[in-house]
Amino acid sequence: MITTLVSNDAEIVWKDCLKIIREHISEQSYKTWFEPILPYRLIGKKLIIQVPSQFFYEWLEDNYVKVLRKALDFSLGREGQLEYSIVIDSGNKNRNQPTISVELPNSGKQLQKTEKEEKSNRIKNPFDLKELTFSNVDSFLNKNYSFDNFIEGDCNRLARAASYAVAEKPSVTSFNPLMIYGGVGLGKTHLVHAIGNKIKEKVGSDKKVLYVSSEKFTSQFINAIKENSLQDFMSFYMQVDVLILDDVQFLSGKEKTQETFFHIFNHLHQSGKQIVMTSDRPPKDLVGVEDRLLSRFKWGLTADLQTPDLETRIAIIQKKLQHENLDVDFEVVEYLAHCIDSNVRELEGVMISLIAQASLNRKTIDIELAKSTLNHIVTSSEKDVSIDSIISVVTDHYNVRIADLKGKTRLRNIVIPRQVAMYLAKDLTQLSLKSIGYHFGGRDHSTVIHAIQTVNDLMDTDKEVDKAVKALLQRFKK
Ligand code: ADP
Ligand code: MG
Repeated sequence: MITTLVSNDAEIVWKDCLKIIREHISEQSYKTWFEPILPYRLIGKKLIIQVPSQFFYEWLEDNYVKVLRKALDFSLGREGQLEYSIVIDSGNKNRNQPTISVELPNSGKQLQKTEKEEKSNRIKNPFDLKELTFSNVDSFLNKNYSFDNFIEGDCNRLARAASYAVAEKPSVTSFNPLMIYGGVGLGKTHLVHAIGNKIKEKVGSDKKVLYVSSEKFTSQFINAIKENSLQDFMSFYMQVDVLILDDVQFLSGKEKTQETFFHIFNHLHQSGKQIVMTSDRPPKDLVGVEDRLLSRFKWGLTADLQTPDLETRIAIIQKKLQHENLDVDFEVVEYLAHCIDSNVRELEGVMISLIAQASLNRKTIDIELAKSTLNHIVTSSEKDVSIDSIISVVTDHYNVRIADLKGKTRLRNIVIPRQVAMYLAKDLTQLSLKSIGYHFGGRDHSTVIHAIQTVNDLMDTDKEVDKAVKALLQRFKK
C-alpha cells in the first residue's frame, strides 16, 4: 500500500517535470529520451527515475542536465534531487533484482553495482579472442540503392528523412536504433542500403558498415554454434560501426538467435554504434520477439513506409523510364500508376515486363501495349479480378455500353450499373477510390464513395438490386 502511495507521488512530481521538459526540447527528443523513463519513487525531495540503460543515463546527463534541473526546480524546488535507477536487463530471468542507483548530485557520480550489473559486465571481451579484422570484409551493400533514386512522397517522408539523418551522422542522431517498417515492396531494403552506401561514400569515411538479412544472421548463428565458434561470431559483429539488420520479423520465435542479437545490440548501442533495422510490421506486432528486445527497439525512432500514393507512383514510373532512356506518353504513365497501386516492387515488375514486351516486339510503349501487358500479368494474389473484367461483366448483365459507364449520362438505367460496377471494383480489387474513379471516366473519389453508399442502401431497400449485386459478386468468387 505504502509503495503505491510513494510511487504515485513520484508520478505526480514526474508529470510536473515532463511539462517543463516538453516545453524546452523537440517532440522527437522528448519521445526518444523522456517517454521511456518511469518515475520510480519519491523519497523526501529526491525523485528516483528508471532509465533503461547506462547509455541512456549518460545521454541524459550529457545533453539534458540543464532542462532536468529546471524541471526539478519547478516540481520540487531548489533542494529537489534526481536519482537514476538503471534497469539493465542483462538476460537473466530474475526480474525482481534490485536496480542500481546512480546518485546524481551536481558533482561526482557514484555507481553502486549490483549483482545484476556485475553479471552483464562478465560477458568476456570478445576482442581478445581472435584477430578478426573487418577491413577485408564486404559490407554487402547494393550500390544501386541510393537516396538519389529513392522517390520521396508523403508515404515515406519521415522514414526517408530519418534514414538520411542517420546516413549523415550515424549514431549521433537520437534515431538509434532506427527501425523502418512497412509491407513488402515498399522500399525498406532500398532505404537501408542507401544509408549504408551514403556512409561509405563520405570522403575519408572508415566506418565499418555491415548489411545483413535476419535470415543470414540466423544461419550464421546456427553455423557458429555447430562449429563452436560463437565467440568469433559475436566478436565479428561487435566490431561493426553501423549494423543494418533487414527483416527482423524473421527473428520471431528464434529465441537463441534473439538472445545473441540482444547482446550484440546492447554492446553496439552502448559503444555508441549505429543500428538500423527493418521489419514488415510495427514492433508491437512482432509476435515471438522477446519484450526486452522489443523495448530496445523503442529507444530510437520507428518510422513506417506506406503504400505510395498516386503522385509518388507516377514519379517512380517516370524515374524508371528515364533510367531506361525511354520516352513514354504521360497518359500511359498515369494509366499504369492507376492500375498498380499495391507496392513499388509490383510496379517495377510490370514496368520490366512492359519494357521487355516493347523491345521484343519492336513496339513503342503505348496505352494498348500497357493494357495487354497488364492483362497478362497476374499481380498480387488477391488482385486477379481486373477492373476491365468487372466492367465487362456489368455491362453485359445490364446490357449497357462501356462508353456509357465511363460517360457523363445521368439516366437511371446507366447510373445504377455504373454505381454497381464501382461497388464491385471496391469489393473485388485493391484499387484505391481515386483509381476506381479514374477508370470510370475520371470521376473523383467522393463520387466513388457516394456510389458505394448508394449501392449499399439500395441493397437494403431494393430486392432487384440486392439480387443482381449478389449474383454479380458470385461470378467473381472462385
Ligand atoms: P521492401 O524491402 O520494403 O520489401 P524494397 O526495398 O526491396 O522493398 O523495394 C522494392 C523495389 O521497389 C526496389 O527495387 C526498390 O528500389 C523500389 N522502390 C521502393 N520504394 C521506392 C521509392 N520510393 N523510389 C524508388 N524506388 C523504390
Ligand atoms: Mg526487403
